[in-house]
Amino acid sequence: MDECLFCRIAAGEIPVEILVETDSAVAFRDAHPQAPLHVLVVPRTHAMDAAALTDTEPGTLAELVRVARQVATDAGHASYRLVFNTGEDAGQTVFHTHLHVLAGRPLTWPPG
Ligand code: AMP
Ligand code: ZN
Repeated sequence: MDECLFCRIAAGEIPVEILVETDSAVAFRDAHPQAPLHVLVVPRTHAMDAAALTDTEPGTLAELVRVARQVATDAGHASYRLVFNTGEDAGQTVFHTHLHVLAGRPLTWPPG
């Protein structure tokens, strides 16, 4: 997966500001933030989406949620939104599992 953007970020090959990292997950700021806090949490191993990661490494899927909670609470947000865009029609553009963490403004429902 040499060409995968988030594999390269997780491996440290593309410098980004890391907010939290664990043995299996890395959290960094989204390049095009949609809220005052907009962070992506990605697994170090490649899986194309959240369901694929659930099949191969369910513990890592749970780790993404734990890291997301830490990112939000470290930033002082008790309320936050977690999003896995899954598939092109749902807005997925990077096909390496990533959990969006959004907070810091009122988040309406339903989303666009
Ligand atoms: P999605 O549309 O759910 O696949 O989300 C992909 C996200 O990755 C988008 O919100 C982009 O803004 C973000 N993104 C793309 N390239 C980078 C990058 N180099 N560093 C940080 N975020 C990125
Ligand atoms: Zn990847």
